[in-house]
Amino acid sequence: MNIHEYQAKQLLAKFAVPVSKGIACRTVDEVGQAFQTLGVPLAVVKAQIHAGGRGKAGGVKLVRSADDAKKVAQNLLGKALVTHQTGPEGRVVKTLYVEAGSDIAREMYLAVVMDRSAQAPVVIAAAEGGMDIEELAAHKPAAIARHRVHPVKGIQGFQLRALTKHLGLSGDQAKAGAKLISGLVQAFMALDCSLAEINPMIVTTQGEVKALDAKMSFDDNALFRHKDVQELRDLNEEDPKEIEAKKFDLNYIALHGNIGCMVNGAGLAMATMDVIQLKGGMPANFLDVGGGANQQQVTNAFKILLSDPNVKGILVNIFGGIMKCDTIASGVIAAARETKLSVPLVVRLEGTNVELGRKLLQESGLNLHTATSLDEAAEKIVAAIR
Ligand code: GDP
Ligand code: MG
Repeated sequence: MNIHEYQAKQLLAKFAVPVSKGIACRTVDEVGQAFQTLGVPLAVVKAQIHAGGRGKAGGVKLVRSADDAKKVAQNLLGKALVTHQTGPEGRVVKTLYVEAGSDIAREMYLAVVMDRSAQAPVVIAAAEGGMDIEELAAHKPAAIARHRVHPVKGIQGFQLRALTKHLGLSGDQAKAGAKLISGLVQAFMALDCSLAEINPMIVTTQGEVKALDAKMSFDDNALFRHKDVQELRDLNEEDPKEIEAKKFDLNYIALHGNIGCMVNGAGLAMATMDVIQLKGGMPANFLDVGGGANQQQVTNAFKILLSDPNVKGILVNIFGGIMKCDTIASGVIAAARETKLSVPLVVRLEGTNVELGRKLLQESGLNLHTATSLDEAAEKIVAAIR
């Protein structure tokens, strides 16, 4: 789960990470008021969407008066902001964060990520901000310092010293930097994050060290331990189809192609998507209906697939292991009838009672194609939507 920048900053402040004062707003008037309340000569109006690259896309604006702030708000609120991370449709801005402006002397990069191969969180730091970290990693890998955090002991003094040195901080700034890094690591561990990123971390012209931006992602499997974090979820930022799928325990992820896939088992679902691409098609989604896929699950899954206007055909690829193929076939037939399926449907079943399953499909009177192998199924659905 992801949260907004302003929410991340509120959480991080509790871990002694220095951030500027700010006010989250939902209307143009609130933005004007927030500027007055902050009472600073310079403020920043920042679009709150779950995507980076807002600055380059015009979603971060410096303002020097309440009127300026309101003008910026007028241009941003309710409009879709397209950044290099949102996809071409962008994200509608519903919240703006008005923050006291900083005079930046230098921008740096700092993040904590869960590194599965190191089996521990890893702190990543670079003295050069402003550039995308991906770009820096590709062109100047030596500019990025990495320190593995001990899962029990936490980050050590020598690591903090090495990190602040790498960031080019000395004296009081090094102390402030160490405190910030240590706070970020503590927040990461305490809140079960998968990512906590500060890009940029800055030194101001007054010599303060602080977090100018903040991004936090949380491990969904640990969210039950953090009711306060769960409350920060913003459904506005999630695909409605994915929200619907979660209600029915379906593992669904929307993609950009036009072939809806319904598969049981994550491995089989991945293989199915691969073979569709191999045959020249593009999957519209990843969908694992789970091992005990029953008629209700199949119907719900059909409805979610069909709610995507891009879906021009559906491929069902189900292995009847625990569930028998004839039961699955009945489920697919009932679901196709209930949803008045009008796009081409290719069904590939394999496993227990497969002959009976295929017979049911063929005799259903529905306009569907059956296939015996995955290759054949993928070829048929790709041909059917052409
Ligand atoms: P992102 O583009 O979505 O990552 O948004 P950021 O919060 O990182 O802001 C983008 C850029 O806007 C930063 O790298 C800064 O250069 C600039 N910026 C943001 N806040 C301030 C501020 O308070 N003062 C100044 N001078 N620039 C800022
Ligand atoms: Mg940023």
